[in-house]
Amino acid sequence: MLDAGITKSVNGNGNGTAAKGSLPLVTHEPQQKSVIWVGDVPIGGAEAVVMAGPCSVESREQVTATALSVKRSGAVILRGGAYKPRTSPYDFQGLGVEGLKLLREAGDIAGMPVVTEVMSEEDVAVICEFADLLQVGARNMQNFALLKKLSKTGKPILLKRGPSATVKEWLASAEYILHGGNDQIVLCERGIKTFDHSLRNTLDLAGVALVKEMTHLPVIVDPSHATGKRSLISATAKAGLAVGADGIIVEVHPEPEKALSDSEQQLSFRLFEELMSNLTRPVRTLFAHHPEFAVV
Ligand code: PEP
Ligand code: MN
Repeated sequence: MLDAGITKSVNGNGNGTAAKGSLPLVTHEPQQKSVIWVGDVPIGGAEAVVMAGPCSVESREQVTATALSVKRSGAVILRGGAYKPRTSPYDFQGLGVEGLKLLREAGDIAGMPVVTEVMSEEDVAVICEFADLLQVGARNMQNFALLKKLSKTGKPILLKRGPSATVKEWLASAEYILHGGNDQIVLCERGIKTFDHSLRNTLDLAGVALVKEMTHLPVIVDPSHATGKRSLISATAKAGLAVGADGIIVEVHPEPEKALSDSEQQLSFRLFEELMSNLTRPVRTLFAHHPEFAVV
């Protein structure tokens, strides 16, 4: 349960009206875990789930080759950004609708559901046409108009933690989506800003364990954005699963050094394969449940 201090400060006034159970939906019966289905992949069940794919969809060849390779290594959901939140307006902004189509096509070829980021309210409808899981990026975690709109889509939502958001603010954002009528939410810890700039962000592993205690919703870890550093993805992915995350989301690119975004943190096919063979917790595989997709 949310403790009294957190409940009061989320509510902000403690006057007793809204204070009582101010996040009632997200903290309801945390021990009764919710399982969120993305296509036919359950998130929050006994097996951890691995989502993988490029930071950005760049071309048909790039995303299709990545889909087939990550599937072969054991990923069950394909990621790929079509609308990219870039720090500079001069950086690659994503292929937009064309990117969505290429992602969908690659997912269908590989037999995988797809996740992609939705940055603005006006893109929600078109993204719903192509994606199985809609990602709210870290920078939009408190875009309340977007959260309200997503609560009406009936689609599963991947809600990333904001770079400077506290755990209670993160859960309050999930509450918005639940309150609007959508209970299909997966939380994602992707690193937060701290005083230490040695890495892109600081992965809040204890925060993951804490959130698992507080909510019934599944939580996954994004080691790619948390570290920004290829050599640390494997260690942090394993650490995320060790503290109880229900899965990981990892960036993979056919030629990471040539990637149009986040080239420092994307894994090659070989490094992703290596990561998958070193995960110590059972991960859900497509092959066990869908022998027709097995690659021989
Ligand atoms: C992403 O996953 O493509 C992304 C931009 O991540 P974040 O919102 O966590 O920075
Ligand atoms: Mn990225």
